[in-house]
Amino acid sequence: MYSCGPTVYNYVHLGNLRAYVFVDLLKRYLQYSGYKIKHVMNVTDVDDKTIRDSQKAGKTLKEFTQLYEKEFIKDLGLMNIQMPDVMPRATDYISEMVKIIKKLEKKGLAYRADGSVYFKISKSKKYGELAGLEKQSLKENAEGRLNAADEYKKEDVNDFVLWKGWREEDGNAYWDTEIGRGRPGWHIECSAMSIKNLSETFDIHCGGEDLIFPHHTNEIAQSEGATGEKFVNYWLHNAHLLVNGQKMSKSLGNFYTLRDIMDKGYNPLLLRIILLKTHYRHVADFSFDNFTEAKSIAERFVNFLFSLDSIKEKGKNKQNVKRLISDCEKRFDKAMDDDLNVSEALAAVFDFMNEVNKSLNTLNVDQAKDVKDFILKIDGVFGFIENIYGDYLAKLKQKIKTTEIDRLLKEREEARNDRDFKKSDELRDEIQAIGFLIEDAKSGTVIKLKDWQ
Ligand code: AMP
Ligand code: ZN
Repeated sequence: MYSCGPTVYNYVHLGNLRAYVFVDLLKRYLQYSGYKIKHVMNVTDVDDKTIRDSQKAGKTLKEFTQLYEKEFIKDLGLMNIQMPDVMPRATDYISEMVKIIKKLEKKGLAYRADGSVYFKISKSKKYGELAGLEKQSLKENAEGRLNAADEYKKEDVNDFVLWKGWREEDGNAYWDTEIGRGRPGWHIECSAMSIKNLSETFDIHCGGEDLIFPHHTNEIAQSEGATGEKFVNYWLHNAHLLVNGQKMSKSLGNFYTLRDIMDKGYNPLLLRIILLKTHYRHVADFSFDNFTEAKSIAERFVNFLFSLDSIKEKGKNKQNVKRLISDCEKRFDKAMDDDLNVSEALAAVFDFMNEVNKSLNTLNVDQAKDVKDFILKIDGVFGFIENIYGDYLAKLKQKIKTTEIDRLLKEREEARNDRDFKKSDELRDEIQAIGFLIEDAKSGTVIKLKDWQ
């Protein structure tokens, strides 16, 4: 599996993160289903923007891009996105790119003009098939997209650049190669890195839907042109994350980064819930109100796991927990097999939790463990439950350590034993005032955290 990674000239925004969370979900679900995955995600560390902004910052291209690459990897960790098996940098694959370009030239699929090399799309019979483009609309589309940086000397406006000949404004961002001094075009980077790290044909290629044309369209044309083999078996594209109906993007300035979210006090995993909740092929509108629902989802899981962990005795074993688990598992798998239908899969898990909750106090320790193990197995796909629960427990422990809760609980216990209910109620109020919830269960008093998110 190959997924297009970030161009490292800035922090990634939440729209980008939607693309990476989607790939992570797909990968985790395939692993859960028994597939072995080799996942490659590139880092684009040379293009017009990285060159322009590194110059502005007075840094070398490498110094500049490595800074944002590091931040990107941090963001993946915060979102509990599994690291790819290979994370190639474009600048480490220049010779592979040159090899592909030379092959294309040899086959008459590429030509040189003004020190640059272009792909000749009129020679590519299936060009545009992925995007469902007719030649006419293709032409209009391409003309619409032409920008100053792309205006090299092409024979046809649709031809795209494989190799950009050096120009003064590129400064020292160049490579001297057999095809001249310059730097690669964006599309050839992904062909070279995917073929080298996977193979000429591989199974899955992902990216946001804005990449279908021209990026992935061009990747197919140049890869298949060079190898003569089918490039990719399955393409999966995520729809966009919008803000007020517009695509979240750096150029529109309507973006938030993970830092913005965390500065407002939100756990990044709540964002993971928000991004997972909308089906990957549907557009999703981002607003801070989304966090309310995400918090309530997190809370349901935390309460459920906490209740399971609180079961200490052997209950009467009334529920057929194993059957509930296997029914839920079937429903979960069916939903996820249906093009990753996360909301149906989540509904299956919530229904299951409701069933278990109905007679929670009759569960014994072993059943509680079976239920918890099942939730954690599901979380191998969702990737937020265990971490949020861990966060909750850490906060609870910290609060117990830094407050007088132990003394208050002891006094309340004594008051209850003395049947001094007025005092016991006062102590309950005091306990709640310092941020705990208190529940008197059969097996004893349980304290939970109030307002922990
Ligand atoms: P870029 O760094 O712009 O090349 O984008 C990196 C990845 O994020 C690509 O897969 C894009 O398609 C994806 N992407 C960019 N903006 C959005 C957005 N607003 N919503 C969803 N995905 C996006
Ligand atoms: Zn790419």
